[in-house]
Amino acid sequence: MKKLALHWKIIIGMVLGIIFGFIMNSYSEQQFVTDWIAPFGKIFINLLKLIAVPLILASLIKGISDLKDISKIKSMGLRTVLIYVGTTLVAIVIGLSIVNIVKPGDGMPQETIENIKLKYENDAGVTDKLMKASAQQDAGPLQALVDIFPSNIFQSMANASMLQIIFFALFVGICLLLIGEKKAKPMIDIFDSLNEVVMKMVDLIMLFAPYAVFALMANVIIAFDDTTILVKLLQYAFCVVGGLILMIGFYLILIKAYTKKSPLWFLSRISPAQLLAFSTSSSAATLPVTMERVEEHLGVDKEVSGFVLPVGATVNMDGTSLYQGIAAVFIMQVIWPEGLTFANQMVIIFTALLASIGSAAVPSAGMVMLVIVLESIGFPAELLPIGLALIFAVDRPLDMCRTVVNVTGDATVSMMVAKSLDKLHDPKPKEWDDNYEAVK
Ligand code: ASP
Repeated sequence: MKKLALHWKIIIGMVLGIIFGFIMNSYSEQQFVTDWIAPFGKIFINLLKLIAVPLILASLIKGISDLKDISKIKSMGLRTVLIYVGTTLVAIVIGLSIVNIVKPGDGMPQETIENIKLKYENDAGVTDKLMKASAQQDAGPLQALVDIFPSNIFQSMANASMLQIIFFALFVGICLLLIGEKKAKPMIDIFDSLNEVVMKMVDLIMLFAPYAVFALMANVIIAFDDTTILVKLLQYAFCVVGGLILMIGFYLILIKAYTKKSPLWFLSRISPAQLLAFSTSSSAATLPVTMERVEEHLGVDKEVSGFVLPVGATVNMDGTSLYQGIAAVFIMQVIWPEGLTFANQMVIIFTALLASIGSAAVPSAGMVMLVIVLESIGFPAELLPIGLALIFAVDRPLDMCRTVVNVTGDATVSMMVAKSLDKLHDPKPKEWDDNYEAVK
């Protein structure tokens, strides 16, 4: 019998998890899911996070030292940043166009607004987002730059500070190039071997993915106790999802036009990473799998994927910026229509770009940065909790969808950068379950 592909197993796990979550909701057994099911999802995410740091270090140090020529690093860095900024701008413009055409916030019944306000305005989730946003704003203007340079790499690794780890790996990689091949070889061999080991770990962890997504989805479903408000917000949610689908279409056009690969081939190869992004709502947790797919299944060389993907997970969030554009205008349409000027929407383009760069690659980070986008256009502070309350009920499902786009965007750009540097090759995929019998 033909083996079922991993992405199908993951989809089956997700569907069963959703059904199971609804059944548990109907029997009011949410606590059972929290106590006995959710921890398995948590274990899976922990394992992925566990290998993310060694993976970035090994693959980037090895990749850079393979480049043989320092000027190539500069051109790779420049291309990556330019394409990232370009795709993010496209995402924001798509988002703003949709929300201005559909106008999902116009004519929302006052009663619905009041209900939402009552239910969520003082919700711990909303106040938590507001507090995090104000902490972020208290920092000085160059703090983001200072934060890239670590003073203690072990601390950076412990905090999984992506940009600091990338800086360190680049630094080591460049110095390995400078000390000459003979002296560098022992260290490069170690990182090469570490890279292989961690890639194998991804394979083994992914064997557990179908069961883990079952747990993750069941846990998401039990959080939706009030579906009536969810239905009211459907129009807004459709705008975001519609925009995200357009964005995926845009990536597929880029893939076809620039790398000459088939969009369906790309989608089938990257799909396990997309499904995980959906289930975990975190591009950071998905990163090891994205790297595995891009290197082994899409044919991008390590030196490109090792740089482009970790940087992308941190700074390139097209789904998040598209969502921020739509959410900001939607909130204005409902509670601050006088703020809906052309000038403000231009400011949103700029701040949503910066906000998506500044958003952490973890669940609901996009909503924290939305506060900063709103404040940049002079949104009245007293209306902020109501604004967030408005979109809070549907934020988790939208977060899951925008994370898929964030991860797909990173993979697309890594293919483009690789193609432009002649570092895209025919992949030689290794299967997840090559070693299944041995580890069983
Ligand atoms: N959850 C998203 C990510 O990790 C960020 C966000 O939009 O909240 O990519």
